This record gives sequence, C-alpha cells and structure tokens, in this order.
Amino acid sequence: MAMRDGLTGLANRRAFDEALESQWQRTSAAKSQISLLLIDIDHFKEFNDAHGHQVGDDCLRSVGAALQSSLTGSGGLLARYGGDELAIVLGDADSRSAALTSESARAAVEALEIPHGATTSGVVTISIGAATAFARDGGSVAMPHALLASADRALYMAKEAGRNCCRTTLIFAKTAT
Ligand code: GH3
Ligand code: MG
Repeated sequence: MAMRDGLTGLANRRAFDEALESQWQRTSAAKSQISLLLIDIDHFKEFNDAHGHQVGDDCLRSVGAALQSSLTGSGGLLARYGGDELAIVLGDADSRSAALTSESARAAVEALEIPHGATTSGVVTISIGAATAFARDGGSVAMPHALLASADRALYMAKEAGRNCCRTTLIFAKTAT
C-alpha cells in the first residue's frame, strides 16, 4: 500500500520514480527509447472553487480511471504524480507512440463530459507534455531528471497553446553507467 495513492488507488510518486528508473536502465542497456507523459487537469482550481473539494476528489478519481482504461494494452504505467498532476511512463516507446498515447488519454478525459464552467469546451479536460529520450553514449543530458524537465516544458507549451492538447519533445540522454 506504500506504493499506492490513497485517493485514486493509482501508483504513487514513489512507485512512479522507481518504475521510471528501472525502465531507464533497460532502455539504456538496449540503446532504445523511453517516453514520459506529464498530465495536468485544466483549471482544476476553479473546478474545486465551483463544486467543492469533495466533487473535486471524485473528478480526480474519474480522470484517473479514464486514463487507466485509455492505456489498456499499451504497457504504460500510470501514477498520480501529485495534486492534479498524473504521469505515464512508456518503456521502449518512441515519440510517435507517445503522441498517440497522449491523444487517446486526452480524448478519454474529454469523453467523460464532466461539466466545467471554466474550460473552453465546457467539460473537464487535461493538458499533456510528452518527452521521449534516446539513450546515446554521447548524449548530453542526465536521466531521469532531463526527461521530467523536458516533459514539464512540453506541458507548459500545451497550457500556453490553450489547454486540452498535447505537446511533445525529444532529448538525447547519456546512457546509464
Ligand atoms: P492549470 O490549467 O494551469 O493547470 O490551472 P489549475 O487551476 O489546474 O492549476 P493550479 O496549480 O492553480 O491548481 C491546481 C488545483 O488542484 C489546486 C488544488 O485545489 C487542486 N487539487 C490538488 N490536489 C487536489 C486533491 O487531492 N483534491 C482536490 N479536490 N483538488 C486538488
Ligand atoms: Mg491543473
């Protein structure tokens, strides 16, 4: 239970960090690719303000369940990263599969049709920042920090672009020693 989030029942931050580290070791040894998706609920503060914290908690659980179903068969690990942020690690996944997974996650949450007065579409939506790392001996950045930072920048771009969308980034990361 120490690896589960109490509210959503998903993997927690600690479980996620461990999964990311072990997936990266594998990616690095195989000189392949790994992808990380950072997911953030749009205008969630306003949702809580309008409906109360309890309904906000229900919304978080529904979003978590929709994301989990959208992942079926992809082998991705979904976790609650903190607050209204969730994350997915995709082992051995290139940027195309990161983009496809992001889009099905985004569509799954929109399809819940949970009314939200503060979003453009009038329902609860998410924004996603995806990052893909190539493992290279001559890579210039250190993992897993660089992958998280890169996904965070992509998430910021998705928010800036108007929310309810996905942005992707690529990095070349130093192989693990
Ligand atoms: P943005 O589109 O830029 O992400 O806007 P936002 O309002 O979602 O962003 P902000 O970071 O200002 O607010 C996040 C909100 O998430 C604030 C907090 O009330 C809510 N939140 C975080 N954790 C929980 C939780 O466990 N339960 C509930 N109900 N709300 C939570
Ligand atoms: Mg948010």
